[in-house]
Amino acid sequence: MSSIFARIIAGEAPADIVYQDDRVTAFRDINPQAPVHILIVPNKEIPSVNEVTEADEAVLGHMLVVAKQLAQQEDIHKNGYRLIVNCGDHAGQEVYHLHIHLLGGRALGPMLQRRD
Ligand code: 5GP
Repeated sequence: MSSIFARIIAGEAPADIVYQDDRVTAFRDINPQAPVHILIVPNKEIPSVNEVTEADEAVLGHMLVVAKQLAQQEDIHKNGYRLIVNCGDHAGQEVYHLHIHLLGGRALGPMLQRRD
């Protein structure tokens, strides 16, 4: 069964889409963790990084180029931002359609919760 992201890409579910081309779609996260929180998603259904193959190298690189362009568009490129890709249970992946989180607009703190 297709994920919610596949339905957003196809225009069958609502989302605040900020960018779309023939390879990727980017839309605002429904539960933003920062003033800017955008998800960059390949139009092709790849469940997670575990399923990535060499055939996906071009689209994965394109996702980073789009991330850079969106950071400029959102005017967070000068202060900085964070890109996150969760994979699997321990990373807390909720939606099994590969995506990059683009987060910015405030100081984001440490990358991980400190354990000490
Ligand atoms: P993950 O935990 O899989 O890395 O991230 C999934 C993200 O998708 C979460 O930040 C969650 O808020 C977001 N999300 C889940 N369902 C929807 C939806 O229907 N629309 C949008 N725009 N974001 C969603």
